[in-house]
Amino acid sequence: MAQLVHVGQWAEAARRAVEQGATKVSAATLVHNLARACEAPVYREYVGAVPLDGRITDQKRRGRKGRYNIEYWVRCRKCAPCRRARARYWAALMQTELAAAVRSWMWTLTLHPDYRHLLVSRSMLRLEHGGTVWEHLSEDQQFAELVADLYREVQRAFKRLRKAGHLVRYVAIAEPHKDGFPHLHVLVHEHGKPFAEDEKGHATALEREWKCGFSYTKLICERDPGTRRPKGPPVGRNHPCSDTLGKVSRYVAKYLAKTLGCRIRASQGYGKPERLSKYVLNNIVGKRGPT
Ligand SMILES: [Zn+2]
Repeated sequence: MAQLVHVGQWAEAARRAVEQGATKVSAATLVHNLARACEAPVYREYVGAVPLDGRITDQKRRGRKGRYNIEYWVRCRKCAPCRRARARYWAALMQTELAAAVRSWMWTLTLHPDYRHLLVSRSMLRLEHGGTVWEHLSEDQQFAELVADLYREVQRAFKRLRKAGHLVRYVAIAEPHKDGFPHLHVLVHEHGKPFAEDEKGHATALEREWKCGFSYTKLICERDPGTRRPKGPPVGRNHPCSDTLGKVSRYVAKYLAKTLGCRIRASQGYGKPERLSKYVLNNIVGKRGPT
């Protein structure tokens, strides 16, 4: 697969690629291996062409002459090493968020049978407007459609929570049940007003906001608001609050690495320290005033 761009844009990409370790194999060709441990790397071409009359011509696309190329080898995202790498990547982001939040919850969401029907018919209707027939989609595509719809419900739930004064950040992982229907694991990071709990320690505010079926919450990490050190007795080996990346990794890898079809959605700038500190400053320190 080749992407054709203006030669100026290509030069910028080439400069970055060289910085990141791409090899120059000829005057106009770079090879950049981004596949790491992947077992089935995928080949991509990034082609720069000189525009003729302001347009990038098809001739330049086909011919070898005047063609600048970066040959990329990228991850397949399907093999075991790729899935492990993806789990590690998200685990690192989660660890950053876990360390910054006062409390973090695992929120598991499932769908009521009635809602499943609604979800499917809504997706069918939406596709029909675009001229696509539901039955013509692959299982994976159908799952993606259902999940996209479901994530909108999750976003609505978080909108209502924010309106109620809760400052939360989250990452949601959609996983297929055996019957192909999605269920969600959401990691919710609490920054502001704490969620009310029932006598069993479930966050009732969260559970109330899931309108499409059943949900279950579990407090997985609690920290001292001042020092952000984990509270309570020393945490166990596989506990997400343990401050080692490998431990968080094992915890989330359970959801991420084993499933091929799982999809992830997260708050803006999830796990990015600069975005996180801005969020904390704007929403929490800003409201309390300087201390
Ligand atoms: Zn791979």
